Amino acid sequence: MPTVPRGGKVLVSGANGYIAMWTVKILLQQGYRVRGTVRSAEKGKFMSDYFAKLGYGEAFEFVIVQDIIKDGAFDEVVKDVDAIEHMASPVHFNPGDPQGEWYLCFYFSYLISLGIETLKPAIQGTVSMLKSAMKNGTKVKRIVITSSTAAIASLNLDLFTEPRIFSERDWNEASPKEVEELGSKASAVTVYRASKSLAERAAWDFYNEHKAQVQWDLTVINPPGVFGPPIHDVTSPKSLNLSLQVWYDMVASGSPKTKEALSQSPAWVDVRDTALAHVLALNNEAAGAERILTVSDFEGVCYWQKWIDTVNNLKPNPHPSHKFIFGYPEIAQEKVVLATLDKSKEERIFGIKFKTMEETAKDTLEDFARRGW
Ligand code: NDP
Repeated sequence: MPTVPRGGKVLVSGANGYIAMWTVKILLQQGYRVRGTVRSAEKGKFMSDYFAKLGYGEAFEFVIVQDIIKDGAFDEVVKDVDAIEHMASPVHFNPGDPQGEWYLCFYFSYLISLGIETLKPAIQGTVSMLKSAMKNGTKVKRIVITSSTAAIASLNLDLFTEPRIFSERDWNEASPKEVEELGSKASAVTVYRASKSLAERAAWDFYNEHKAQVQWDLTVINPPGVFGPPIHDVTSPKSLNLSLQVWYDMVASGSPKTKEALSQSPAWVDVRDTALAHVLALNNEAAGAERILTVSDFEGVCYWQKWIDTVNNLKPNPHPSHKFIFGYPEIAQEKVVLATLDKSKEERIFGIKFKTMEETAKDTLEDFARRGW
């Protein structure tokens, strides 16, 4: 399949989101032109102002697509673009969640109030984009979709009790099954995981069914928990996107945590590396028709105490006015994580030099310090 060289025009859906803003930035830095979809003019203006200040006023434009579920929602905006990064998908949060499950299952348990409504925009939004691309995207050569490790494994890695290596060959079939059985009684964690698994499945099914009729192919990026400095429109820790909000609470807020809580966490990757993978996917022939795990060092396996130890060892302290907790350093000796993620496909196709935990922690804390958080 032909790839999309620099200079091409790229449609990014949900462009104002945490990962998407970085993706747009790297696209512009690499010489692509970008059309971002947002749900309001205010969100678009924030982006236009941000990128104009960086000198990309001409290369960035936004369009409003309010309802991504609607058939034909993307019909107009896919015209004349060379590639699509589909990144819009619900990642909600509900502060009323009970702590125990929240720590156990990472942030997705915040989603308790969503019920199966979450599935709709995730699945139909994805299919709607592909349908519009098939109908009107006459120039489109590649579509990149943001999926998740949630489409690969049904639990955080540290919760598996047997040794296991997860790769792109694995599918999370357990969460969709549970949602099917329990309906709106399924836990929010399961609903989110099911939404990512089902949305990605729907994308591959659509692609495989229509391969002969379209001139584009598909690449899917599967990141674990994404952390790192934000550039999207956030005004307080509470307005952060879900994954970074949890990182703030666990690592930066200074509020005490139990040993159990600090013994857990999702695998992780830096937001800038995740965004870079989305950009590299455009101009890399081997990325066509692949799902690709993008994970940081140590196969992304960690637990919150590791972040706490890292932060306390940073020299100089990137957030001097702030007091970090010490937690329970003995967790490092006690904790054994049996499951890992196979990074070999990413290494073969992209070969990204992933940011270390030190780099991600330092840059994020410096950003928080600048914002006075
Ligand atoms: P954000 O919440 O920062 O961004 C989500 C984007 O999707 C926003 O632009 C949001 O628009 C848009 N969106 C959400 N719901 C809808 C909807 N119903 N209709 C239209 N647009 C919608 O999340 P992230 O940047 O963290 O996530 C981006 C993608 O990456 C998602 O697909 C997510 O599942 C995936 N992902 C994220 C991980 C993480 O740890 N952050 C890990 C693995 C995958 P608005 O601002 O208007 O609400």
